[in-house]
Amino acid sequence: MNNNCIFCKLAANEIPSHKIYEDTDFLVFLDLFPSSLGHTLIIPKSHYENIFDIPEDTAANLQRLVVRTAAALKNALGTPHINVLQNNGTSAGQTVFHYHVHLIPRYENDNVNIGWATAKHSPEDFSSCVDDIKSKLSSAVH
Ligand code: AMP
Ligand code: ZN
Repeated sequence: MNNNCIFCKLAANEIPSHKIYEDTDFLVFLDLFPSSLGHTLIIPKSHYENIFDIPEDTAANLQRLVVRTAAALKNALGTPHINVLQNNGTSAGQTVFHYHVHLIPRYENDNVNIGWATAKHSPEDFSSCVDDIKSKLSSAVH
């Protein structure tokens, strides 16, 4: 547990939350400042700062819960539209530095604003980018 972490405190029941589900490893609860009704967060109870810190097996098990929670939100809220988001680092919008996945149910004409402008890159940029990532990923998966 990280004593300065709000989600660690939440997992330890030191502060209240709108809890939906918990087991020994994970907690599912409503975002306190939701962007839509049913905006849900899923966290591991152990403190991992972000995707670069969480063990792969923990992330894989958490993802199973993401899929099940998405289905529950769909059935409970009656909308089959949902964004699943996970921010890592300040430039990516992370504000709480304890790994978490957002599930944001979407409704017709809601005011949720998730999007990005299209960046322009040259064909050379594309190909050197592919080469760089390819070599890093192939050494990571072998
Ligand atoms: P992120 O910007 O991806 O780091 O998301 C952090 C999320 O945590 C935001 O959507 C906040 O609204 C949410 N949040 C912050 N404090 C609490 C809290 N005490 N209980 C529930 N959600 C929180
Ligand atoms: Zn934490």
